[in-house]
Amino acid sequence: MLDINNIEFFGKVETPFWFYDMDLLRNTVEKVASLASRYGIDVHYAVKANEEKRILEYIASKGFGADCVSGNEVMNAIGCGFPAERTVFAGVGKSDREIAEAVRAGIGSFNCESLQEIYVINAMAARLGIRARVSVRINPGVDAHTHRYITTGTYENKFGISDHEFSDVVTLLKRCRWIDFTGLHFHVGSQITDVREVFSLVCERVNPIVSYFEDNGLEVGSINLGGGLGVSYEDPDGEPMADFETWFGTVASGVRRREGQTLHLEPGRSIVAQCGTLVSRVLFVKVGETKNFLVLDAGMNDLVRPALYGAYHKIENLSARLRPNLPQSQAYDVVGPVCESSDVWGAGRLLPLSVRGDLIAIRSAGAYGQSMSSRYNLRDPAPAVYSDDMHGARLRTEYFQE
Ligand SMILES: *Cc1c(COP(=O)(O)O)cnc(C)c1O
Repeated sequence: MLDINNIEFFGKVETPFWFYDMDLLRNTVEKVASLASRYGIDVHYAVKANEEKRILEYIASKGFGADCVSGNEVMNAIGCGFPAERTVFAGVGKSDREIAEAVRAGIGSFNCESLQEIYVINAMAARLGIRARVSVRINPGVDAHTHRYITTGTYENKFGISDHEFSDVVTLLKRCRWIDFTGLHFHVGSQITDVREVFSLVCERVNPIVSYFEDNGLEVGSINLGGGLGVSYEDPDGEPMADFETWFGTVASGVRRREGQTLHLEPGRSIVAQCGTLVSRVLFVKVGETKNFLVLDAGMNDLVRPALYGAYHKIENLSARLRPNLPQSQAYDVVGPVCESSDVWGAGRLLPLSVRGDLIAIRSAGAYGQSMSSRYNLRDPAPAVYSDDMHGARLRTEYFQE
């Protein structure tokens, strides 16, 4: 939680910056680790959600594997302490260089998304003289009831292999001498909040598909249900932890596992979203024709989710906490400085009366925040500040008061 001590410290720091609550990260990771051992589920952290070294090293130290979607992610994850054999590489478009590096690194599996990809990996493994482990990503045709940009498991999406190709996949895998088939992979989308409903449906689709592959002579060693567990963007303090219990319970009871078969999950967002806050300052208060604007020094290049997905993030005026008893009564359009009309943090947000220099927290920003940031408008990358040691912060050197 952001307390008064944080706020006083934040006042000395140059904004915008990412603040990571490491206690919350540890509590979350420990919760997941304990459920994983209770249900016998193997957890791989989806590194694209947040790739800060310190966060990766901590998660790796807790015995998680890594789910990667590029060659650089694979090499970075291994460099941060994830064992190569517990690192998997997914994605529809792996380049030759990425495949070769990952084969050489001896990763746990390539999650293949097309027949041609399986063929190419086999050929490259043969050339390198190193066997490659491959699992097959299936498109289960399940709608995750989430935003269309983060739905991945319907037939409209580019991801995975669909039913009509199953028999060709089986034939091809049997012919590939440089490939060891390890299992099946399913990932239907992200920010899934109907957890029980969606994952029960996924399990109903997964069981017959696993049987099909085994009946056709391919041993499915691992069943991987991907990630996708949603978090509460509305109430990060009330619900700091995602509903891991329901998720683990639903998949553990829904997937039929035979002796020796492992079950995998790949949470990204639900591990890191709530521990991160983007801390910003009000640059200007602008009185418009029909509305008032708060112009912040953080923009869509820092956190693109609102502009990209229309995503909601809770916005708080931290400085107003030090001015007691101010009601949340002013409606502001809270906007960023980037030259795009979509650079809006929230329209018509009710906040206490806000003034130039106020610290503004954009909450639940730990996932797909810093990792998706860019330097658009040639803006400086916002640095990370960790609750454990706040010395890394760049202190403010100069500023002007009105
Ligand atoms: C992005 C991704 C995940 C993580 O999804 P979250 O919604 O962040 O949990 C898991 N698996 C694969 C293959 C992914 O691409």
